Amino acid sequence: MTDIKSMDLSQMTAYFQALGQPAFRARQVFQWLHRGARSFEEMSNLPKALRERLGAECLFAPPTVERKQVSALDGTVKYLWRLHDGNCIETVLMRYKHGNTVCISSQVGCRMGCAFCASTLAGRVRDLTAAEMVDQVLFTQLDSGAPISNIVLMGIGEPLDNWDNVMRFLTLINHPEGMNIGMQHISLSTCGLVEKIDKLAALRLQLTLSVSLHAPDDETRSRIMPVNRGVGVERLFESCRRYFEQTGRRISYEYAMIDGVNDHDWQADLLSRHLKGTPGHVNLIPLNEVKESPLRPSRRVAAFQKRLESQGVTVTVRRKLGGDIDASCGQLRRKQMLEAHKPN
Ligand code: SAH
Repeated sequence: MTDIKSMDLSQMTAYFQALGQPAFRARQVFQWLHRGARSFEEMSNLPKALRERLGAECLFAPPTVERKQVSALDGTVKYLWRLHDGNCIETVLMRYKHGNTVCISSQVGCRMGCAFCASTLAGRVRDLTAAEMVDQVLFTQLDSGAPISNIVLMGIGEPLDNWDNVMRFLTLINHPEGMNIGMQHISLSTCGLVEKIDKLAALRLQLTLSVSLHAPDDETRSRIMPVNRGVGVERLFESCRRYFEQTGRRISYEYAMIDGVNDHDWQADLLSRHLKGTPGHVNLIPLNEVKESPLRPSRRVAAFQKRLESQGVTVTVRRKLGGDIDASCGQLRRKQMLEAHKPN
């Protein structure tokens, strides 16, 4: 089956030409798809025979809402979508004063193995297609009625471990005939795949790169993030420095505060030494507890923040949204999986 919705306009044009159709059909179908059509049948400006042919040849199955939870605290909405093959993924809609942001997933599960993260507990099932990433943005907007202005690739999965599909997604979501969301309104978060960071730097996209650092020393980082083993923090910071030099974009470093693991004063000092000379921004995140993990939230967030600030580092503490609806990373999908497997 042809994954027509993952095609960019030039690929779609070539596809319609191969079908013996005029080039303008590509633009028509592209617009229908990216405005949220749910079937070829409703594409009323296409000849009926063409609609039938597309229906027979193309994979086109928008996700359905499996669960939806709305936070009573702050209006955050969490969607659990069911994909055409039965897999489920999460998307979170966050409402800020400066606009509505969606946090989307890039894979079904994850194979990075971070010790604190619920998304990786059962490994990676498969990559998401570009269309499946677009659909999270599009159908969140259509279902909620909230116009989306910002996207963060911070949901389930490691976006740089799904390079081709994520790059295609960026092209599609950025397209003037599509959702037309500018690169400056997109953030991509990575656990630190250094070669991919270098590859991304060379593209000089104007998106914001977030690096999930979580520890400034190899011993701790390798313990909680297997991706660090054999690579090391030094090499990661080299890539980050090059990324800044090539793109002129400041990196934001995510740092989930874990009790007794990464919240010592010496780690704040080491972190600020690493950041000397490269503008960056540290985002301290109160750890969300994951039932299966022994790691607990730090009680030293304010002290750690102060210590970094006293050394000239810019720090923010992430405001927690959706605390009442399992809104953090992988938790809703996990809950669904566990319930589905419960003996009756
Ligand atoms: N794979 C990418 C994006 C998905 S994770 C990455 O690693 O960046 C999104 C962010 O949530 C990452 O910074 C991740 O480290 C963080 N995170 C995962 N589990 C968490 C938890 N239990 N508490 C706080 N942050 C968590």
